[in-house]
Amino acid sequence: MGFKDECGVFGAFGHKNASHLCYLGLYSLQHRGQESAGIVSFDGTDFYAVKEMGLVSKVFDGEKTEYLKGESAIGHVRYSTTGASNINNIQPLYSQTSKGRISIAHNGNLTNAFSLIEELEKIGALFQTTIDSEVILHLLSRSSHSDFSDALGETLGKIEGAFSLVMLGENFLVAARDRHGFRPLVLGKKDNSYFVSSETCALDLIGAEYIREIEPGEIIIISKEGIISFTIPSESVIQPAHCIFEHVYFSRPDSQVFGDSVHLVRKEMGRQLSIEHPAEADIVMSIPDSGNSAALGFAEQSGIPFEIGMTRNHYVGRTFIQPEQSIRDFSVKVKLNPIKHVLKGKRVVVVDDSLVRGTTAKRRVSAILEAGATEVHLRISSPPIQFPCHMGIDTPDRDQLIAANKTTAEIMRFVGANSLGFLSIDGMKRSTTAHKKSNYCSACFSGKYPLDIKNKGKYIKGHGKINLYAEKR
Ligand code: AMP
Repeated sequence: MGFKDECGVFGAFGHKNASHLCYLGLYSLQHRGQESAGIVSFDGTDFYAVKEMGLVSKVFDGEKTEYLKGESAIGHVRYSTTGASNINNIQPLYSQTSKGRISIAHNGNLTNAFSLIEELEKIGALFQTTIDSEVILHLLSRSSHSDFSDALGETLGKIEGAFSLVMLGENFLVAARDRHGFRPLVLGKKDNSYFVSSETCALDLIGAEYIREIEPGEIIIISKEGIISFTIPSESVIQPAHCIFEHVYFSRPDSQVFGDSVHLVRKEMGRQLSIEHPAEADIVMSIPDSGNSAALGFAEQSGIPFEIGMTRNHYVGRTFIQPEQSIRDFSVKVKLNPIKHVLKGKRVVVVDDSLVRGTTAKRRVSAILEAGATEVHLRISSPPIQFPCHMGIDTPDRDQLIAANKTTAEIMRFVGANSLGFLSIDGMKRSTTAHKKSNYCSACFSGKYPLDIKNKGKYIKGHGKINLYAEKR
């Protein structure tokens, strides 16, 4: 059981349709996690929860959002690595604490959770789940500060790593982001009510106006009195380290992340890629959907026409985000089909966003060649991934990362391409506009982690795990 999570969070405060809007928000954050979904609401007296394994559309079918009474709600979508697919791990978590009843939903990965859990257990804490976010509730409850904001500041000052989180208390909603600002988190407004979301695409869907990002290290508390904002106490100045992989792959292209349009950043990555690794070819195509924006940029920059060389079955989820290897292989096959009439006799530039294990690219390249292409020039709009992420993106261990174990020439032969080019780290960072390139974390490409990873290689074995009966869908 690991700590790794890929997640999306959403919060609504002071709206008569809070839980329904939260459900819609989660719907558009589905790409951030497809294993489980949950919403917790508060009606001024009681908390209500609906949490289940499965997609948002399944979890909240029928009248379930009507059960979630009240004008405030928080929600979560989650993907976790194998083993933690455990029903009592579904977020938002809820607890009775010394600071009142609190529910929490978290995107990210706490890098010192293991040591904090050990310390807390020694003094009697009983952990109910295997998720690192539970640490926050324990620390909050044990804080000696009687004032909630002081207790929260102290708590969030103790945890390290990546967290973009929402918390629902009795009559208030909290949004907070770690001091590096690894994962995105934004604030929106509609009908005089506030909303918090991992990505702006969720605000677009519910018709909320984008106000601003929650700043790195910022805590906001939204209540009927308005918004108060303060900073997580810190002994040192911490540089922002936004996750560049949100731009490369993880976020939706219609979102604005870290101040930039994800689509336009990806398109620029494609342009840079074409400058760094030009190719002689008849058409440029993408691996849909993740390579679309970069392929357009590559085509524009190179002057080689863009073509649709493959179509996608939209009813199949993201290949990676499936806990079982057997399912993953199956989805790779059913997801994309080459268009033979486009590819026959053509020299093709194939653009994809990233190479992780390399198995998907290998299958795609052979399918494109089988469909009649004469040459395949594979171009990847990010650098080789050589190191695992400890800040919330699910990456396999180094032994499974193809670029950690093979040279570019070896990878080219493995995937069966005629040529292969990766975007450089500089080219990738240069494709963002809103921040200086030093404001990004690119540890999965460079191995330079912006913080000390205390949990490395450690797992919470079986902590709080109970095998609950879960209805099969
Ligand atoms: P592979 O090289 O076969 O492991 O698959 C790489 C593809 O998976 C990329 O083209 C991305 O579209 C996608 N991908 C990369 N990283 C992730 C991730 N952390 N979660 C889900 N999908 C990913």
